[in-house]
Amino acid sequence: MNTRRMHQPARYVRPLQQAVRTLLDFILPPRCAICARATCGLPVPWVCPPCWDTIAYITAPTCAQCGKPFAAPPEGIASATHRCGACILTPPAYDQARAVGVYTGALRTLIHAMKYQRIYGLVPPLGALLAQQFAMHWPAGVSEALVPVPLHRSKLRVREFDQALALAQYLGQGVGLPVWTDVLTRQRPTLSQVGLSARERRQNIRGAFTVPHPQVCRGKALLLIDDVYTTGATVQECARMLRRAGAARVDVYTIARVHKIL
Ligand SMILES: [Zn+2]
Ligand SMILES: [Zn+2]
Repeated sequence: MNTRRMHQPARYVRPLQQAVRTLLDFILPPRCAICARATCGLPVPWVCPPCWDTIAYITAPTCAQCGKPFAAPPEGIASATHRCGACILTPPAYDQARAVGVYTGALRTLIHAMKYQRIYGLVPPLGALLAQQFAMHWPAGVSEALVPVPLHRSKLRVREFDQALALAQYLGQGVGLPVWTDVLTRQRPTLSQVGLSARERRQNIRGAFTVPHPQVCRGKALLLIDDVYTTGATVQECARMLRRAGAARVDVYTIARVHKIL
């Protein structure tokens, strides 16, 4: 493993940009990314408490594997181990996927603001959400390292911000796990997944990732980190590659998940 790259400081924000952003925060104090109310001195910068309280958290019962929420507890079945029909018919390449909330309302707006308006100040509150629920899904020792879903360099140049890496670094500090950025690499840029069917998404992402040093993940329990779980096509492909390289366990953790109640 290339430890130099693993431990280098956050590369998701260019230092100059961060300095400019800090200066801007000073001149133009942060406002709620949802309702534009001033958030100076409030516990969560960039989000006011009433907006923060509208986040739709995902609660049990959920599918034991993909984490999809069930409308009602499955009758007569131990809900902690019950899987949804899709997972039974086509088992995902990962072991367990979990998300903090539903990709709607406040959470959707905040993720958009972090990613596309480049409000880096939203990384700590969103990363803190991941950290708060982490132990509930992965008791100590279950996961050995965090692996952010990589963004292709061409996208990074346009957006200059790698949200999965930023969230993984914040979470890693909070829960005391290393962030492995060299485990997975993105071979080629992919078309936007927006508007594609589940099958088209799978085809679009196929072969997009490689594992350059398979020996590093052999026998390891890895936790993939991303911002949103949509159809799961991207994390499935990442998990498939990590498994093929010999990972003993691959889980998925995202801030939000798109879902329809079963
Ligand atoms: Zn607000
Ligand atoms: Zn499922």
